[in-house]
Amino acid sequence: MSFEDKLRKIKPYVAGEQPQQENVIKLNTNENPYPPAPEVQEKSREFVTDILKKYPDPDIHLLNAALAKYHGVDESRVFSGVGSDDVLSVAFLSFFDSDLPILFPDITYAFYPVWATLYRIPFTEIPLDENFRIRPEDYYGDVKPNGGVVIANPNAPTSIAESAAFIEDIIRHNPDSVVVVDEAYVDFGAESVLELTEKYENLLVVRTFSKSRSMAGIRIGYAVGSPKLIATMNAVKQSINSYTMNHITIALGVASVEDESYFRDVLAKVTKTREAAKERLRAMGFIVPDSKTNFLFAEYPGVPGEYIFTELKKRNIYVRWWPKERIKNRLRITIGTDAEMETVYKEIEKIIEAYKNR
Ligand SMILES: *Cc1c(COP(=O)(O)O)cnc(C)c1O
Repeated sequence: MSFEDKLRKIKPYVAGEQPQQENVIKLNTNENPYPPAPEVQEKSREFVTDILKKYPDPDIHLLNAALAKYHGVDESRVFSGVGSDDVLSVAFLSFFDSDLPILFPDITYAFYPVWATLYRIPFTEIPLDENFRIRPEDYYGDVKPNGGVVIANPNAPTSIAESAAFIEDIIRHNPDSVVVVDEAYVDFGAESVLELTEKYENLLVVRTFSKSRSMAGIRIGYAVGSPKLIATMNAVKQSINSYTMNHITIALGVASVEDESYFRDVLAKVTKTREAAKERLRAMGFIVPDSKTNFLFAEYPGVPGEYIFTELKKRNIYVRWWPKERIKNRLRITIGTDAEMETVYKEIEKIIEAYKNR
């Protein structure tokens, strides 16, 4: 066996493009168009000194405590990481150590199959129904045993949210597996199952600062679950890298959590623009499901998604498109500012006209 044979072969997750030039309308990776809370901006100016020469707190106590207080849970129920990608990756490694396949939908966050492959976790991708909805029975572990369940709610890239009762039904039917609910977009109007972590010891709820808190660049994600699950994640994390989160990030994370009113203002603005965008795109002839996220999953019947995607990019407008059979005519459009959206509508109208007259 050569050393090449011993290298890990993995097809990595492909992140959305991060164009570095100015003057683009960037609606391709679900960032928030508004700045983070004023206190975050204020605090970030303080970090020029001494503190950087010391290691940060491996237990991320100040941020975990702020999040625990925010959610009204004990700090032993909170785990913070470097983006929810880090948190989910640690969760996969912590909870899915069996020979049974873990389950998640065929259309969902594309990182799940990558972690499963990397960590040699068997997995089954279960087709969503024709309306991109989850069929809860497909996930009943008490009917057919599984190694674990991962559900994004609201789901991405579909933008569709299920109720807390719907998600609880899946949890109730999986007493013997960990159920991970990825609530990356829940702040934009969906029902959360976070409170159910008190009732179900095998439930982990994952959140991120990247979308609703306008802090994609700083990398903060966290999980809330039973002390048993959180302790397992801490043991796994401490076996990889103790000092995951730096001083600056911890302090800025706390500042964000403490400004509830700014947070609510930004959410109100984004959801208002989202509802207007949905109506506007529907009026243009797009099929757009109701969204509980900060993006829309739109299809224009008769015009290929790739065509609109490519034409928008020529105009410095970035949205997301995947060459995947069931969704290849769909575009995932992040909600930008009202001004950005106006430009998007105008350009899309021109692109569709041009396609019809070609
Ligand atoms: C954006 C996203 C994440 C990752 O977010 P980070 O906290 O920036 O790593 C995780 N899950 C879903 C469903 C997402 O859309």
